[in-house]
Amino acid sequence: MSSKKSYMTLASLYNDLLKMNTKHWIDTHCHIGMCDFISEEDLIKHAHDNNVDILLDVAVDGQSCRDVIARAERYDEVYAVIGIHPHDVKNATEADLDFIANNFNHPKVVAIGEIGLDYYRDYSPRDLQKQFFETQLRFAGENNMPVVIHSRKAWDDTLEIVNEVRRDFPLRGVFHCFGYGPKEAEICVDMGFHVSFPGVLTYEHSKKLKNTAKSIPMKRALIETDSPFMTPAKFKKQSRGNLPGYVVETAKELASIRQMELDILQNLLFENTMDCFPKLLSALEKRQAALG
Ligand SMILES: [Zn+2]
Repeated sequence: MSSKKSYMTLASLYNDLLKMNTKHWIDTHCHIGMCDFISEEDLIKHAHDNNVDILLDVAVDGQSCRDVIARAERYDEVYAVIGIHPHDVKNATEADLDFIANNFNHPKVVAIGEIGLDYYRDYSPRDLQKQFFETQLRFAGENNMPVVIHSRKAWDDTLEIVNEVRRDFPLRGVFHCFGYGPKEAEICVDMGFHVSFPGVLTYEHSKKLKNTAKSIPMKRALIETDSPFMTPAKFKKQSRGNLPGYVVETAKELASIRQMELDILQNLLFENTMDCFPKLLSALEKRQAALG
């Protein structure tokens, strides 16, 4: 979608939209409801203070699907991603899947997620994880929604299921909190997906992730906090958990790895985010129109 729009059009849309002259950042993946060490208002204020003013609030289970939508209705800055996380599929019900099916048309629901496979924790039986992953992927494919994929120590099965569904529907979306290497990132990019870097990128020991960040086509890179998890190195000691406002630290690290100006990276990440989540772009356009 954004490929039809020029880079400058998007950048000026963003600035017009927010009616400000300062620079802005997007956290493409956070769990506001899990940040129980801070109030919602203070979390959003902290984000604003750090020039982060678009937050994708991601559900993990039936209750949080309902919560992220309610939060998106309360705050202009918040957009919702609804789905059942592999950890939580053991407790998911038909009613939860119905809720997702009945709400993907909500104007502030921009993607289905987070969905996927997690064989590191194995909190839910693997067969059930696979079943829910495929069901939700198919659902996203049928409805032309991007997906937010969580995949940990489950690369082969993830790829197999994604490829199977791709035979029936063109899928798009992001492999969030990417933990695999440059080779796997290349496969994600070839399939048309984006790859998202969390605060882990700022850790000294994250050599593999830094290598992935070095080699990935920049058009497919996103950044996220996955708050309250994976606080960037700089704030690890002082903060009780990660916050969307800290996404800028990951941006700085990515800019340094790619030897890019932070301003240029910021505009590029904005464009990449709109490319990955077309409904976010249309929601922003509507918000701009409403502002006059
Ligand atoms: Zn997450």
